[in-house]
Amino acid sequence: MAERSHGPSIMRLFYSVAIWMTFIHCSNGIPWTQEKLHHRAITLTQDEIRAALSHTDLDQMWQRDLRPLLVTRYPGSAGSQAVQEHVKTTLGSLGARWEVTEDKFMSETPYGPLPFTNLIATLNPSAKRRLVLACHYDSKYYAPQWHGREFQGATDSAVPCAMLLEVARALDEELKAQKSSNPNLTLQLIFFDGEEALFQWTPTDSLYGSRHLAQKMESTPHPAGATDTNQLHGIDLFVLLDLLGAPSPHIGNQFPNTTPWLSRLQNIEKRLHSMNQLVDHPISVEYFWPNRPVGHIQDDHVPFLNKGVRILHLIPSPFPSVWHTFDDNEQNLDRATIQNLNKILQVFVLEYLNARPAVPSTPSTPSVSSNPQNAP
Ligand SMILES: [Zn+2]
Repeated sequence: MAERSHGPSIMRLFYSVAIWMTFIHCSNGIPWTQEKLHHRAITLTQDEIRAALSHTDLDQMWQRDLRPLLVTRYPGSAGSQAVQEHVKTTLGSLGARWEVTEDKFMSETPYGPLPFTNLIATLNPSAKRRLVLACHYDSKYYAPQWHGREFQGATDSAVPCAMLLEVARALDEELKAQKSSNPNLTLQLIFFDGEEALFQWTPTDSLYGSRHLAQKMESTPHPAGATDTNQLHGIDLFVLLDLLGAPSPHIGNQFPNTTPWLSRLQNIEKRLHSMNQLVDHPISVEYFWPNRPVGHIQDDHVPFLNKGVRILHLIPSPFPSVWHTFDDNEQNLDRATIQNLNKILQVFVLEYLNARPAVPSTPSTPSVSSNPQNAP
């Protein structure tokens, strides 16, 4: 009888502990692999945006990063080797101290076995979670006797790769500070080799680099020593840039599960437009269309998508008119579009990483009396 009379209060205690435990679990007890699903970006103030974008410089990007990429660079070529050196040297010279690793392998191709090299640059390798920005640096192979002309692959994908290098260079200070302010979340840049089919697009003649790296990341424990999580679990969001640099890109939506991030890009485009930060940009939205569904496109994200990674694919629909022609060259690039996309991408990266740039304080007006030399 005594126990019975205590029953209701024990049950009450049990229920309140259960509710309390649920609350704790939901507020800060979620497994780290689920944190990406609850991730909140910050929204920079206009002053912070101006401070952040004060370091991006299209002319410098063009000379330092784009021109060195505009060479024939199919897998195994001398141009490919030169581009790899350029990416490694550039990222290695920055103050944020990127770790650059190589994923080298041989693969059978329609022309026999060829060497491939993916480059993976990680801002803070000890961070569990990574925002990934990716591009492919190889150019499509055209046999020289066909045309006697060099295929530059300017939008495909020299410009996207130069844009990634510009993110790292322009935001060097901010990324360096972010490393210590948020040791749990970092930025990773992936430069894929062998995206293009060497002869004709098939499941085995295409996506050589991304197929290899997705497999390798899946079999690499992450964090080091983990038994049930791998490097793919560490990818918060995989942002693939491709075929950018032609005028008027319209980027539609392939993946409903990442719509909020495409909407954020549109929101950044609107904000920068209203701040007069974008050139040749007549209406507030020109590029990002989260409400326009487009069909799935075969590209380097596919091997990651198939393994459950969340994708944002920044590729125009339709493709640029110069796609896979010898007119995909430097002369046909649209400088305004590239500059605008650089700015939008850089704000996106900072907001995603919760990295607030330091706003320079307004210099105080010098007093005339304290500086007689400036007196009229
Ligand atoms: Zn291509």
